[in-house]
Amino acid sequence: MHQETILPPPPNHSIPMTACKILLLVLDGISDRPCPSLGGATPLTAAKKPVLDKLAAEGICGIMDTIAPGVRPGSDTAHLALLGYDPYTYYTGRGPLECEGTGIHMEPGMIGFRCNYATIDPQGRVTDRRAGRIHDTDALSQAIQDGVDLSKFGVEFVFRSGAGHRAALALKGEGLSHCVSSNDPKKDGVAPLTVKALRAGEKEDRTAAVCNEFVAQSKKILFDHPVNKERLEKGLGPANIVLMRGAGEMGIFEPFATKYGLNGSVISAASLITGIGRAVSLPHIEVEGATGSQNSNVTGKIAAAMNELRTKDFVLMNIKGADESGHDGLSEQKKAFIEKIDPLLEPLLGLTDTIIIITGDHSTPCCIKDHSADPVPVLIRGDGVRMDDVVRYDECSCAKGGLLRIRGVDLLPIALDLINRSHKFGA
Ligand code: ZN
Ligand code: ZN
Repeated sequence: MHQETILPPPPNHSIPMTACKILLLVLDGISDRPCPSLGGATPLTAAKKPVLDKLAAEGICGIMDTIAPGVRPGSDTAHLALLGYDPYTYYTGRGPLECEGTGIHMEPGMIGFRCNYATIDPQGRVTDRRAGRIHDTDALSQAIQDGVDLSKFGVEFVFRSGAGHRAALALKGEGLSHCVSSNDPKKDGVAPLTVKALRAGEKEDRTAAVCNEFVAQSKKILFDHPVNKERLEKGLGPANIVLMRGAGEMGIFEPFATKYGLNGSVISAASLITGIGRAVSLPHIEVEGATGSQNSNVTGKIAAAMNELRTKDFVLMNIKGADESGHDGLSEQKKAFIEKIDPLLEPLLGLTDTIIIITGDHSTPCCIKDHSADPVPVLIRGDGVRMDDVVRYDECSCAKGGLLRIRGVDLLPIALDLINRSHKFGA
């Protein structure tokens, strides 16, 4: 006897079976270790996060060593790896990337430093390494740019303000080296250090001398500057010294568009991440209210990403708040941040034609208040992606997923294959 069967609805051909764009959402420092204050759960397992869980359920999950098992990643090396630039080849120190992040165009061979405005007392001791968390330092940086003269060394420089008390310095000239120390004493109550050569060599000695000259000349300019006189009158710490560290030589980065044939952009409040983007020629999209902190305008960032994906093939978006909580050791705040951003990610559920990747750049366990090498959970969701049984986005659930355990540099090749843009190896 013929039995009537209920057939599934015909496939909806308006949904393409292969996506052609990639959204890489990095939840900075999202993963953790068991937290006593959360009854042994991690912030991700303790948090209610239906949107992240739904995305995990609709895709394939796994865990990832952003650099390699047992290697504690910095945000910079991790993001290079996630963009498919092996940090062991491309990473040349944080300084040049910070410079790019402040908008300094770094040419190969230039030496970059990350800098802080700080306060020293009349005895020359550092009393506040962040100069009372000063912001709007553009006038000070401009005065340094106009007033410091390194021409006797045959060296040109660019000095720019970053966010808050931060700044960046780039040196350009013959015979410079990145093998020099920092003048940052890393603690209050002692005088800034003298920058020294980190290995014997003429270039190293010369660069250290250039740095010490820069610090001495800028100190004089800052001492007399009206911004600092006004701060003193208001009882605020003056920004009267520049502390510099993280020296690195700018390397050669193949532009992202050339490497992959994809155009893209970066959405991030952290200058280090925007700097990495600029180093690989991915433009930064400014979002009002994006702070890189708990109060960041995540809604605005998501809207900007959706907007970018209309015309771009690739968007890297970094959301920083969870990393901050991890560094501060605040597991409940980290859980609350995850619960706060989860509903804001809802627009992603309706995103078609796009491979969505959600992952971390490293773990920032609250118990150690720093980055750890614990692998990060990763989910990949989009048209044509195989679905596994994982229905939660957290460290242990994702470890049971179909992606198993990958490395950071594997991520973009996997995504490229999913959008049919990888090259066949062999015949
Ligand atoms: Zn990070
Ligand atoms: Zn961090």
